[in-house]
Amino acid sequence: MATEIQIDERAREFVGRDRPMLIGGDWVNAASGKTFEVFNPATGQVLANVAEGDSEDIDRAVKTARAAFEDGPWATMKPAERGRIVHRIGDLILEHGDELAALETLDNGKPFAIARAADVPLAADNFHYMSGWATKMDGRSISPSVPYMPDAQWHAYTLREPIGVVGQIIPWNFPLLMAAWKLGPALTTGCTVVLKPAEQTPLSALRLAELILEAGVPEGVVNVVTGFGETAGAALVAHDDVNKVAFTGSTEVGKEIVKASAGNLKKLTLELGGKSPNVVYADADMETAIPGAANAIFFNHGQCCAAGSRLFVEYDHYDEVLEGVSEHAKNIKVGSGLDPDTEMGPLVSKEQQDRVQGFLDSGAEEGAKTTAGGKAREGDGYFVEPTVLSETGPEMKVECEEIFGPVVTVRPFKDASEVIPSGNETKFGLASGIWTSDIAKAHRTAKALRAGTVWINCYNVFDAALPFGGYKESGWGREMGSEVLNNYTEVKSVCAQI
Ligand code: ADP
Repeated sequence: MATEIQIDERAREFVGRDRPMLIGGDWVNAASGKTFEVFNPATGQVLANVAEGDSEDIDRAVKTARAAFEDGPWATMKPAERGRIVHRIGDLILEHGDELAALETLDNGKPFAIARAADVPLAADNFHYMSGWATKMDGRSISPSVPYMPDAQWHAYTLREPIGVVGQIIPWNFPLLMAAWKLGPALTTGCTVVLKPAEQTPLSALRLAELILEAGVPEGVVNVVTGFGETAGAALVAHDDVNKVAFTGSTEVGKEIVKASAGNLKKLTLELGGKSPNVVYADADMETAIPGAANAIFFNHGQCCAAGSRLFVEYDHYDEVLEGVSEHAKNIKVGSGLDPDTEMGPLVSKEQQDRVQGFLDSGAEEGAKTTAGGKAREGDGYFVEPTVLSETGPEMKVECEEIFGPVVTVRPFKDASEVIPSGNETKFGLASGIWTSDIAKAHRTAKALRAGTVWINCYNVFDAALPFGGYKESGWGREMGSEVLNNYTEVKSVCAQI
């Protein structure tokens, strides 16, 4: 192992103490006094103790967010001023880039270099992008005809207003970035928030909340309640004074949230699982398609809802791509995220490691052939080998269920007429990839794939300006772009007879 990266001093200090949660402007313990342990996935050692919020804390946080929404200056502040504050959050993220990246590596396990080069700047960029929308949340002027009042004159227009108190529940795969995706649009539109980070990875959201206060967001606008999904998360979803819940996580929990949120019919957006097809046509540039297909699945250890986990390759180049992706998998350096040579860190938790191992066992039982990897690594930390499976079929668990780990299935196909139905043969519809040098074929295939994102000759390209979200069981609504703003605003029609 190369010399470990020196952990940013502030990050070391941040994990060294018990972490309270943020309600209003106060850093508080849970009402129950309970805490829970957060682990370093590279070692399995306890990293920090964090306040274990539950329904009582959620209720306090929601009341605080409600007061901040109704009485505070946030929703009524001049949009330019609110935009400047949201922009400043992005600046502070960049200023604290080393520290935030170190927290991500310690808490989530991802390589420091990747957290520093991707998670941190993308999180900052999301606030910067969203800040510009604060001044552009315009309504429209409308000319009604009102057929039963032929002689009347009208002045009518729409207003876009913040939706109110928002509950946001985020996962552990990109802890900082998911917080940014959620908070950016909520803040720029003037909403107030109760954010519940994933219990595996709450640290960067807590540090981000400090930076949010430092940026000038008034107290009570952002509240962060740490705790478990079944307690704190469920209480937030069921709370009758929450106007909207934005959730990113598994499809299974997403379905529970749909039911649990019904009490006050709060608005809901869901960014859920995926089982994304990645299609390599024979005319693709294999020098980019092969590493591209490997990156599509192995980026972030396969813990991406958009992961290109079902690889389809046109027959002529099937052997070449299977071998190329397998070689790539075998050469990935797996290790601690603090080792500068590491390309893939551990999975986030023991539970996740066991889950992925369960899929690998089921693949082997159902007759899949392993051409790279195939098992969890023994010893400390939650490592799983980058794995390539061939001779799989759509009926196998490894092809139809989301694994959320570094495991790809590779299947040959004859032509577009075969691969498009195969690609769409899934209950999910989050993302997809196409590799080809034929522009017309690329766009015809893009149109035919039932997925919220299609990447052509690239994969895992995310940007604050690109809407992201799912068809089918991959979710409701879109994150990012201008589309996300619809989720955080209500449209009011104002109609005056003049
Ligand atoms: P995973 O299975 O990959 O951990 P989950 O969907 O369980 O993903 O978790 C994503 C987020 O949802 C986490 O913040 C978790 O605490 C939260 N969560 C889990 N179960 C519930 C629930 N029943 N109600 C609300 N939030 C939940």
